[in-house]
Amino acid sequence: LMGYVGFANLPNQVHRKSVRKGFQFTTMVVGESGLGKSTLINTLFNTPLYPPKEPLPPSAERPKTVAIESIGADIEENGVRLHLTVVDTPGFGDFVNNDDSWRPIVENIESRFDSYLEQENRVNRQKIVDNRVHACLYFIQPTGHSLKQLDIEFMRRLHTRVNLIPVIAKADTLTDEEIVAFKARILADIAHHNIHIFQAPSYENEDEETLAEAEEIASKIPFAVVGSDNVVDTNDGRQVRGRAYPWGVIEVDNEEHCDFVKLRQMLVRTYMEELREYTNDVLYENWRSEKLLSMGV
Ligand code: GDP
Ligand code: MG
Repeated sequence: LMGYVGFANLPNQVHRKSVRKGFQFTTMVVGESGLGKSTLINTLFNTPLYPPKEPLPPSAERPKTVAIESIGADIEENGVRLHLTVVDTPGFGDFVNNDDSWRPIVENIESRFDSYLEQENRVNRQKIVDNRVHACLYFIQPTGHSLKQLDIEFMRRLHTRVNLIPVIAKADTLTDEEIVAFKARILADIAHHNIHIFQAPSYENEDEETLAEAEEIASKIPFAVVGSDNVVDTNDGRQVRGRAYPWGVIEVDNEEHCDFVKLRQMLVRTYMEELREYTNDVLYENWRSEKLLSMGV
């Protein structure tokens, strides 16, 4: 099923009542411009959330700070409604001096916590809107070397506030061997800096199949992803979402070609509810107690 998003699996993840009401899910994308963030979002949700954009004329005034832009879409699949919000952060990493690139992003995430707290404190708490960021896809440039100072600084500042999911952007520009080595180096850097990235929880008494799936997903982190807005023809006459090269086609939905399928499994099909839960139970709760402490409550 090409392009099937798969959040209709959510009835297995949560109870029926919230299924009928629909889900709110907010994901953020961060990374230097041109790394394929908008394309990957379109590919993940099989929806043109980001239409192709006109390049800025050279004379145009370029912004000098990181902007926060949020767009929403209602997607329905097998009778399950998902209200998706994507928070984009154009400008991140694009300046001569990027030292403070993380700051407006932290502020945005915390202001969403603030708005949630404010709603919780109301007398009428029937209609709480959850605009908190449930996951942050962090796009790593496919250099094949190591993380940059900018990457480390961002993740160090953000990991206590949001579920970080690192991805290697445009993985079709690296060979398989380069990807293996790059992943190992990235994980070593992340461990060295004590950065916490999102880990799927492991439950006791899980059946073997579920455990194997969890392990397989975990083994692919950081996901080497390829996105595409186009359907292309393969040599053997199939039509696939992918990117065509003189030497062949890179298929987005083919697990032998990249980790797109595993990333979608992590974000949408298997762990969307866990991402929401961890945001609420751990990240938001920690922020809330820090805030109350700092207010002397
Ligand atoms: P953004 O600035 O991070 O949102 O990047 P875009 O999604 O606008 O993509 C920038 C350019 O990279 C476009 O020309 C895309 O077609 C191309 N692109 C997007 N994803 C990929 C990918 O996975 N591999 C390759 N090689 N190019 C990509
Ligand atoms: Mg973009």
